[in-house]
Amino acid sequence: MTTDIDVKHPVETEGPRHTVKEPEVRYDKQGEMPDAERVQKAMHGFVKDFGRTAAIYLESCIHCGMCAEACHFYEVTGDPRYTPVWKLEPMKQAYKREYGPFAAIYRTLGLKAPVTVGELEEWQHLLYDSCTVCGRCSLMCPMGIDIAGLISQARHGMAQAGLMPHELWAAAERGAREGSTLGATPKVFKDRVEWIADENEIEIPVDKAKADVLCTMSSIEIMKYPESIAATAKIMKHLGVDWTFRTDGYEATNFGLLSGQEEWQREMSLKLIEAAVACGAKTLVLPECGHAYGALRWMGANVYGKPLPFRVVHISEFLADNVRGGKLKLKKLAKSATFHDPCQISRRGGAVEAPREVMAALGIELKEMFPTKGTAWCCGGGGGVVAIHRADALRYKVFQLKMDQIDATGAELPVTSCANCRQTFDDGQAHFKWDETMKSLLELVADNLAEA
Ligand code: SF4
Ligand code: SF4
Repeated sequence: MTTDIDVKHPVETEGPRHTVKEPEVRYDKQGEMPDAERVQKAMHGFVKDFGRTAAIYLESCIHCGMCAEACHFYEVTGDPRYTPVWKLEPMKQAYKREYGPFAAIYRTLGLKAPVTVGELEEWQHLLYDSCTVCGRCSLMCPMGIDIAGLISQARHGMAQAGLMPHELWAAAERGAREGSTLGATPKVFKDRVEWIADENEIEIPVDKAKADVLCTMSSIEIMKYPESIAATAKIMKHLGVDWTFRTDGYEATNFGLLSGQEEWQREMSLKLIEAAVACGAKTLVLPECGHAYGALRWMGANVYGKPLPFRVVHISEFLADNVRGGKLKLKKLAKSATFHDPCQISRRGGAVEAPREVMAALGIELKEMFPTKGTAWCCGGGGGVVAIHRADALRYKVFQLKMDQIDATGAELPVTSCANCRQTFDDGQAHFKWDETMKSLLELVADNLAEA
């Protein structure tokens, strides 16, 4: 593969709002293996799950360039390296050499040079640091190519070759080894729940043998926003729901999905599925976490090998259901707000109206950003990007798009329903000394429950 794109100097860091010192470029490797084996594993990973759909996608690109302007990384830099379809180049090369209709000819005549490990290392920047797997490019592509899906598939190849960013590898490995990506082990979770229950003088059921509803948390909520645990308990009490947390399946965060490690992804999803089956739950409520939604709502049945025997809903959908059913009674907030759509829940998940219904029930005057809903700009921290330190400068550049959008609405509150987005906003707020603090929809509801 040849490329005239130099990814060793990934981004201009001067922006209208800030200057960030570019961190030294670093590429990460996991495990010991010869370079040739690494390349072979990556190539095998790129084409391993190659079905007809992926092949059609790669064959049908008409190079129109429309995906470029859909991508926030291209939008803020104008740099062709960040064109979504370019991020798939190593996968395309693997497809042409190993799988495509002319693969034998390409190989025999040497028309496609083999990919080198150096090129794959450099491609970490494009597949991980500069892609939040937000799916905006997939939505805009006139040929219907799911570029974000292919980037996730390409990450599988990188994971198999031991070429993940260190932070994602470490988080996923810890998740697989300890059961939690951020150290929220069953004991830590139980201790936190007990502490939150005492602080808030509320009963929080854990490990009930039978319950109608199984609630889950993201590791970010458990470790950074534990008020979410109290908020969940207050709302469930208000609704009179028979619910529980379970220490054998509580963390919905799935770093296996983000890093491209399918086996870890599977294990984390199975824990939740088995916990819900064990307590006979009819509903599993996913927390304010975008990729948890994708991992279980859309991939859960594949992991389980048959239809899930319970319903999977995001917390915003659960709240909206109860608004519609007249059970969730809320005080009216005399405020205006704007809603940041988490990519995996709104665009990729389709849960666009649920949070807006809940905000309407709170009496909020909604001031939409432009663009919004399915075409909203990503906060820049999804797909694991917020965890990758070397991607900070680029991420902050992208974050300015969001700040400008929110400022333009003039709304009093920014609100979202994803703890990963919230964390990205908190980090961006501190970095830019911005005066807006992102609010959690879940906590806003819990703080404004009407008396029974
Ligand atoms: S928008 Fe679709 S068809 Fe056009 S260049 Fe991008 S991937 Fe190819
Ligand atoms: S999924 Fe999002 S971040 Fe990734 S290439 Fe597409 S638009 Fe850009």
